[in-house]
Amino acid sequence: MREVRIRDTLSGALQSIDPEHEVGIYACGPTVYSRIHIGNARPFVVFSLFARFLRSEGFKTRLVVNVTDINDKIYVAAARAGEPSAKFAAEMTAAYVSDTDALGVGRPDAEPKATETVEGIVELIADLIEGEHAYESGGDVYFRVRSFADYGKLSNRRPEDMDQGEEAGTAGLKEERLDFALWKATKEGEDTSWDSPWGPGRPAWHIECSVMAEQELGASFAVHGGGSDLVFPHHENEIAQSEAAGRPFAHVWMHNGMVDTGGEKMSKSEGNIFQLKEALNRYGREAVVAYLISGHYRQPLAFGELPMEEAVARVERIRNFFRTQAGPGSGGASPEQQRGGSGETPPDPDSGPARRVEAFRDALADDFNTPRAMAELFELIAEANREDELPGAVEAVSEMVELVGLGTLSSPDGSGEADEGAERLMAERDEARAAKDFARADAIRDELVSMGYEIRDSADGPRLVRR
Ligand SMILES: [Zn+2]
Repeated sequence: MREVRIRDTLSGALQSIDPEHEVGIYACGPTVYSRIHIGNARPFVVFSLFARFLRSEGFKTRLVVNVTDINDKIYVAAARAGEPSAKFAAEMTAAYVSDTDALGVGRPDAEPKATETVEGIVELIADLIEGEHAYESGGDVYFRVRSFADYGKLSNRRPEDMDQGEEAGTAGLKEERLDFALWKATKEGEDTSWDSPWGPGRPAWHIECSVMAEQELGASFAVHGGGSDLVFPHHENEIAQSEAAGRPFAHVWMHNGMVDTGGEKMSKSEGNIFQLKEALNRYGREAVVAYLISGHYRQPLAFGELPMEEAVARVERIRNFFRTQAGPGSGGASPEQQRGGSGETPPDPDSGPARRVEAFRDALADDFNTPRAMAELFELIAEANREDELPGAVEAVSEMVELVGLGTLSSPDGSGEADEGAERLMAERDEARAAKDFARADAIRDELVSMGYEIRDSADGPRLVRR
């Protein structure tokens, strides 16, 4: 087992993950008011693969990613869609699960929802009121920021630079501007509410994560993750809520950088590829995953057609490696060796390929440095391509791609064997796309997926591949 270290946002230092205890990871998930975009997919992939790596090193690991299904944005979007907000949130949650399933990196161990956590939320708020860290005002409840001396320790901001971003209407209800809402009384136009000691209402946003993290992982857990846009106010407020109530919180704070989609400009000029579903549709899941791990998780990541085409090319390079090195009649390892690594010649730990795997794992152990790890993988592929035969290379690359969620690239690919019905649907999909009927094209893609096919976009246009 390697020493695994992560750059902690709170201390600024590299912190080791404790191998003696279960590694609880809590990562903030999406607010389900629309289809998720590529930016939401980044934390999902980063934390799923980080948990996978820890497990492969022998750490007992539990990953929790919540779903925020109570929120102002949901009320607004549901009203616009002409649907009850609970129904709308349930539909968007199902879409989120289906979109992230399609990433093929597995599901978190637990995915708690705000709507299923209200009881625990009410209890924590009551505790905070009892400890004079919170107060009721006009049916709302607010956290008294001044009562928590450590406030600001995560984001290192001065109070005058802090803005909770809450609606102007709450100003008259708060003792101080910096206080933030824990509970909101039901307002006109809101069609869901829960009973509480302060009247009917609903939880505000931050409190759910304090409660879910503790319910799923216990009061003191290893890693709290999320996008860097959540450092303030969301994570600052989670710390205040939990620690003010005397509950120790996360040991390490791990934040991923933002995906830069260029905002409106990109959505207009390049269609909807910032939507995860559309990016998956256009580039295939391997390219999307390869793109998301192409930069260090803490750095911002530029999104657009060019970086996606580069990811497609990298994926093709890996696929070609397996085709040529492991394909029939090649001098490389047999498919049996490739699958189980149980061929006649066990990998030599001193060989180039085995050392590359060690370097790959060392990079992941060092603040989860996926670009450095992938550089090892591509150097090994280049080396193997130069040689007639490089024993152990196929096994080594198989292990590497599996660790970063790209294991399907090492299996023989059954393209070209699609049956007639699938080929006909594929042609219909091409027509629908040409006519810009994307709803129809998506429906056909879903049908093909249910038939066991995947559409991969390559340099020669979309190809149908058996999953
Ligand atoms: Zn959260």
